[in-house]
Amino acid sequence: MGAFTVLQNHINGEWIASNATEFLEIINPATVETLGKVPLSSAREVDQAVQAAQQAFTTWRRVPAGDRIQYLFKLKVLLEEHLDDLAQTITMECGKTLAESKGELRRAIENVEVACGIPMMMQGYNSEDVARGIDEFMIRQPLGVVGIICPFNFPAMIPFWFMPYAIACGNTVILKPSEKVPLTLQKIVQLIEQTGLPAGVVNLVNGTKVVVDAMLDHPAVRAISFVGSTPIAKYVYSRAAANGKRAQCQGGAKNPVIVLSDADIATTTRIMADSAFGCAGQRCLAASVAITVGDAKQTFTEAIAEVATTRKVGYGLEDGIQMGAVITAGSKNRIERLIQQGVDQGATALVDGRQSKILGYEQGYFVRPTILQNVNPLGDLAKTEIFGPVLSLIHLESIDEAIALINQGQYGNMACLFTSSGAAARKFRYEAEAGNIGINIGVAAPMAQFPFSGWKDSFFGDLHGQGHHAVEFFTQTKVVIERWHDWTRQF
Ligand code: NAD
Repeated sequence: MGAFTVLQNHINGEWIASNATEFLEIINPATVETLGKVPLSSAREVDQAVQAAQQAFTTWRRVPAGDRIQYLFKLKVLLEEHLDDLAQTITMECGKTLAESKGELRRAIENVEVACGIPMMMQGYNSEDVARGIDEFMIRQPLGVVGIICPFNFPAMIPFWFMPYAIACGNTVILKPSEKVPLTLQKIVQLIEQTGLPAGVVNLVNGTKVVVDAMLDHPAVRAISFVGSTPIAKYVYSRAAANGKRAQCQGGAKNPVIVLSDADIATTTRIMADSAFGCAGQRCLAASVAITVGDAKQTFTEAIAEVATTRKVGYGLEDGIQMGAVITAGSKNRIERLIQQGVDQGATALVDGRQSKILGYEQGYFVRPTILQNVNPLGDLAKTEIFGPVLSLIHLESIDEAIALINQGQYGNMACLFTSSGAAARKFRYEAEAGNIGINIGVAAPMAQFPFSGWKDSFFGDLHGQGHHAVEFFTQTKVVIERWHDWTRQF
């Protein structure tokens, strides 16, 4: 990792060594190698970054939107050129497979592409003659300095749900990567530097709670975009709101999927396995509860158990690996403890992925795919976000019971249905209480031009990341009412 052995902050266009006294090791979860150290920066360093961003804002907001997006066009090219290297970095620090890392980068790039449409997306509207000789306009203006706080599971994609839109709208940004996976964003900010973006428009401060709190409390930070677990999302949302800031905070999830007896079981199983075990179950859109209805129970259970048993688990950089490691030793222990808790509460481990050792990576944080059968629909396991490759199976007699169970849930990130019935699909789409719905889709991740629409305890705020929502979030509306007394005179 060379120059990145001890990570630096990027403030006002310069890489600056943090004056932190505490550092955390960045660990490759498959090999358990140390990849570098991340500083836990101080509130003073956040203040320096905010001041730089505030200074940069005064000139950046005056750059025409059509010129601002030129930096994004350059960034897209650089991201494409460095895709392999970035994907490798994601896999090394985050544990997912190389194909998954490339897929994540693709979604990041799509957000850059959509944000290139901002000259049109941030247009306002107007009405002539709202009263005699009086015109009224709505224009969108940038907010100023905005903070973006990221989780560990998508080190490249998640900052891009916000950052391209924020800067294209004329704001300046402070990025805080997850302390578990800070290498990817360092590399991305290096690429941003290569675009020639003016100093201070994008700043990066490494750290944990101290950095987050400093952003939440800084009077010059106008808005906060956060993605992470529900308790922290709730905390960030409350503290940001108490300080008068705009906030959009995406939280955790427990994603249910209904399998009806008229679904194509072979296709459903393949898609469901990718959803439940892809990224080792560490997606906020991972299917975690499969609810079979009627005759689907036996065929789906047998098929998914087979796929779970044969999934190739290992180091994500190696060829043919279908599932990588989970993020930390603590995470592995927690997942295994929750599996045991499920068994203690009456579930059967149809496929048990605990205590797995991968040849050559015996110290790695691996949990193999796990299927728990006969899970109590109202028990803890059916409600708790496990964030690992564990699929719980529940059987119910009707789609109505299944939708009712989904709607009782705390979270509302995603709900999916597998069926060949259009009527069932419409009913589900209409009634299911979740912000992202999949019909015969296992990971209902909205494309960049759509909002990432979590509901309930999966989202705190009103405007989501991506697309038009991001443009609205990163701009404030100004209404101008205008009259010129002498406009009818002869010129
Ligand atoms: P996390 O909540 O532990 O951390 C997220 C961010 O908050 C990190 O940058 C971290 O440094 C910071 N943080 C942690 N503790 C804090 C505290 N006490 N005060 C202030 N800041 C704090 O989340 P994670 O483990 O990195 O990510 C996994 C979680 O994120 C899962 O719950 C997953 O469902 C969720 N997630 C949600 C979405 C979504 O779109 N809804 C997307 C990805 C991940």
